[in-house]
Amino acid sequence: MDQWARVQRRLRTRVGDMAYESWLSSLALVRIARDCVEISAPTRFMCHWVTNHYAQALEEVWHEELGSPRPIQVTVRAGDRAPSLPGSTPSVALEPPSLSPAAFAKSLSTGSKDPPNASPRAPPLETESPVLDRRCTFDTFVVGPPNELAHAAALRLAEADAVPFNPLFLYGGVGLGKTHLMHAIAWHIRSCSPQRRIIYLTAENFMYRFVRALRLRDTTTFKEQFRSVDVLMIDDLQFIGGREATQEEFFHTFNALVDNNRQVIASADKSPGDLEGVEERLRSRLGWGLVADLHPTTYELRLGILHSKCTQLGVQFSRSVLEFLAARITSSVRALEGALHRLIAEMTLRSGVVTVESVPDLLGDLLSANAPRVRVEDIQKVVAQHYNLHTFEMHSPRRARAVARPRQVAMYLAKQLTTLSLPEIGRKFGGRDHTTVMHAVRRVECLLKEDRLLAGDVDILLRSLRSG
Ligand code: ADP
Ligand code: MG
Repeated sequence: MDQWARVQRRLRTRVGDMAYESWLSSLALVRIARDCVEISAPTRFMCHWVTNHYAQALEEVWHEELGSPRPIQVTVRAGDRAPSLPGSTPSVALEPPSLSPAAFAKSLSTGSKDPPNASPRAPPLETESPVLDRRCTFDTFVVGPPNELAHAAALRLAEADAVPFNPLFLYGGVGLGKTHLMHAIAWHIRSCSPQRRIIYLTAENFMYRFVRALRLRDTTTFKEQFRSVDVLMIDDLQFIGGREATQEEFFHTFNALVDNNRQVIASADKSPGDLEGVEERLRSRLGWGLVADLHPTTYELRLGILHSKCTQLGVQFSRSVLEFLAARITSSVRALEGALHRLIAEMTLRSGVVTVESVPDLLGDLLSANAPRVRVEDIQKVVAQHYNLHTFEMHSPRRARAVARPRQVAMYLAKQLTTLSLPEIGRKFGGRDHTTVMHAVRRVECLLKEDRLLAGDVDILLRSLRSG
């Protein structure tokens, strides 16, 4: 079997048949160069989508194939660059999101525009709306303090008959669940009120469609299409920063929908006020409804998500493996999923058991990419400041509780935030033994459960150290 076929097979195993068929089956291998592997996608949209959603999977399967990491470049296949006219050629099926604009609008909406004899329930969604990820529902969303406000707002909106707030604006860092919540809202509304017409798309796609409408001199259809929906969801709105014409169009669409009491939901990586390159009037308008942010995940939430994903995928790992992942892969839920998928792949390939000892080897690059760049010295400084101590107390042999407890907290944080081993941490705390560090870590872990004051301190310290 040739390399590409092997890589494709692994990709399919990794992402599942549906995602593979929707996004990856049309990729082609262009060349394997020394400094990169080039892969082509049939359209620009597919190219972006694959880059945004499957870059990691691609890199990992190629890494496995080639025995060393190599950057992956996804390009648009030559000859396919120009977007085809709607309906002009059957290959329009490859256009985002796999349909012509009219079919697209219809595909994302149901009921009201359907012929009277059509089934009142939405037909199976896979064929209809490949943009919505089937796995992203409220059932599969794990709720914890960092995302509970956003989740509650999303659920309230999805369950409401009338428009509860307009717009709903979700924001937060990458991979924290914004898209998941938007898809969950869409699925929920579709199943409860199939007559409501929903459009979900990224701001980038909005722009793409708008520019195409301009080029085809058919902005009327474009406007009608977007202004006649019940629910408009625009994901990754930060993308329209600096794109004036698109912003202008979006602003008018937005106003038209809100004035007609239609629901608008937007997401971005920043709050409305902080969106760069976005006009003041739009920023302020976006903040009028409910603005809910998703905070970085906590250890407990990550562990909860891992348990839930394992149940969904029907796989089992030991508690210590999951705890290790939750402690070490902290950047985003997406990274966490990536790590889990890698372990699943390893388990399947080697048909073996993954032990916690083997995880660092299996995940090497993922762990280092996630390693917080926090130094023990910084931890000691920040902790000492917080407790009003001199930094040298972190190294001193003094055992008075007022000094010993903060020192234990610092050791605990060093274990959480650095990749140092226990003996290495001990050395940095005045040459203490690794058992002392272990004891400190355990002690703080226990105290965190019962001592709210200490838990609050640790939370503040973690936040300030993580934010650099
Ligand atoms: P964002 O849009 O904020 O960048 P996504 O919604 O795409 O992030 O989330 C990245 C991945 O993590 C998705 O696969 C999503 O299903 C998953 N995910 C994020 N948050 C949660 C959560 N709270 N529970 C379950 N899965 C989650
Ligand atoms: Mg997203």
